[in-house]
Amino acid sequence: MSDSKGTDAGKAPAKTTKYDAVIVGAGFAGMYMLHKLRGMGLNAHVFEAGSDVGGTWFWNRYPGARVDIESQEYSFSFSKDLEEEWQWTERYAPQGELLDYANHIADRFDLRRDISFNTRVESARYDDQSGLWRIMTDQGETIEARYCVMATGCLSAAKTPDIPGAGNFKGETLSTATWPDDTDLTGKRVGIIGTGSSGIQTITTIAPQVEELYVFQRTPNYSVPAHNRPLDPSVREDWLANREDYRQQQRESGIGIVALEAGEDLALEQSEEDRQREFERRWAKGGFCVGAPYADTGVDPAANKLLADFVAGKIRGIVKDPHTADLLIPKTYPFGTKRLVVDTGYFEVYNQDNVHLIDLNETPIETITETGLRTSERDYEFDTLIYAIGFDAMTGALDRIDIRGRDGLKLKDKWAAGPLTYLGLTVSGFPNMFMITGPGSPSVLSNMIVSIEQHVDWIADCIHDMGERQLTVVEATPEAEAEWVAHVNEIADTTLYPQANSWYLGANVPGKPRVFMPYVGGVGVYREVCDEVAANGYKGFTLSRAPAEAS
Ligand code: FAD
Ligand code: NAP
Repeated sequence: MSDSKGTDAGKAPAKTTKYDAVIVGAGFAGMYMLHKLRGMGLNAHVFEAGSDVGGTWFWNRYPGARVDIESQEYSFSFSKDLEEEWQWTERYAPQGELLDYANHIADRFDLRRDISFNTRVESARYDDQSGLWRIMTDQGETIEARYCVMATGCLSAAKTPDIPGAGNFKGETLSTATWPDDTDLTGKRVGIIGTGSSGIQTITTIAPQVEELYVFQRTPNYSVPAHNRPLDPSVREDWLANREDYRQQQRESGIGIVALEAGEDLALEQSEEDRQREFERRWAKGGFCVGAPYADTGVDPAANKLLADFVAGKIRGIVKDPHTADLLIPKTYPFGTKRLVVDTGYFEVYNQDNVHLIDLNETPIETITETGLRTSERDYEFDTLIYAIGFDAMTGALDRIDIRGRDGLKLKDKWAAGPLTYLGLTVSGFPNMFMITGPGSPSVLSNMIVSIEQHVDWIADCIHDMGERQLTVVEATPEAEAEWVAHVNEIADTTLYPQANSWYLGANVPGKPRVFMPYVGGVGVYREVCDEVAANGYKGFTLSRAPAEAS
């Protein structure tokens, strides 16, 4: 169907460019989607707001940024050659190496020729008659495409500071989510707001370099040791030798991580001695496996408390000042109900004289000032202010695009009380639009690369099957969507997750509806559901031809 190409968006006068599929975003999801659709002979094109590929790893260049899953597990499985030729250097790859990996993929599969960079998609409208999406970019181009794939990322819409006086500060202001390359904090006085994963990685890395570091903490986060180190060659050899088996394990698992070693016994049924031994073994191994020793810690408050108490003991053992240690121990939500942070000496930095922890519950921020920040207790002065305040997660990037489906229905209106999706892949009323790792899928509760691959493969198969049947419109039914949303909520309620004011629930964005967004059923179970839907003739979808093509 394509009749013209426009890789140089913005320079040409307004015209309509046609593609079979438009993909929004050139992170790992958008890149693999492009590769896959191209391989099927489709004319697909990616629009990316940034100046290059990599998404998360392109934008988040703050000091210490690194993956929280062992490198070989957080990598694509779709190409054996890619897997065999790429060498990770550390157990947990740093941001720069992850960005190199993204660039390598772009080069190896020659992706850039079908990506328009520095181009933000501003609107996407579905035309009922033609069954096509009309997409407009900030470069003034209009595009028509049969399929629109939103690979916009779950953690790509950074929050803007909602703090009084933000903007007053006359010194250097940085955000972890858009960190510039040429920053040197050596010898500076630095204030940082936020102690989620981004804040913790930044704090740990800059603490030894800066003169003074003021950490403004509202809620402490559970953090476990990474035990990061150069990647042992035997790990790589073992992974490649058993690649098929490990990849299968990932796909069938709960969160897509082999190293998780998800325990199947119940904590409450173990002796105190056995439990402590298992907790210690996992702490010594490091990473997310610390959070999965037993099957009941995520669902039973008593079992959860045993693990939380163990971790609190570890924090007390590391941080010398008992008051500081106490402030660093989470008390307002169960262990593991916010994404665990995997750190490299985080709690240890509070033993340094130049690091100061300020509890914003005790002394809230009154205002940002020209020279720093004022709490209810005193003024703090610094040279650099860092915001590590998180994202409008899962729905934020989609909300920032004016998406209108059948009969002009706005996605933002449809989702006013929380996201409604079928399988986290599609939305009723928005035919031919797919989301990669959308709300209602395992997504951010998993190894994202595993979830991205599964979604891309499923979407590609669906588009292929539509072509085989000479059909042009695929749309989730309202009934299937309602049933799926109810199921997602129901199983979330069987866990302790909803007890935390987390971004999983939208609780970090004022006014955002409080709905648990990801699917907690596990990536293996979820994959089976998706495969069954496809095998049953796309159960829960209507497949048709667009009215303009029906005769
Ligand atoms: P992204 O990488 O977010 O890419 C989306 C792209 O879409 C972005 O480049 C963005 O610019 C572009 N875009 C968005 N809207 C538009 C628009 N309207 N027009 C044009 N372009 C648009 N997950 C893990 O599993 N393990 C980890 O260790 C891990 N660490 C993370 C660390 C950080 C700092 C963050 C923020 C997230 C982390 N994640 C991690 C989640 C991470 O987002 C995923 O692992 C993965 O990189 C997501 O890839 P993606 O392609 O889906 O989205
Ligand atoms: P986050 O987890 O949402 O943390 C944001 C922090 O900022 C929280 O401590 C929050 O406190 C604080 N904050 C926000 N607004 C504030 C305000 N107005 N005043 C004071 N404090 C405020 O965001 P993130 O750290 O960017 O991480 C988001 C997700 O990205 C992670 O959960 C993870 O999935 C992913 N990530 C992963 C890694 C990795 O290890 N690979 C690294 C970075 C990010 P409250 O909790 O009180 O709101």
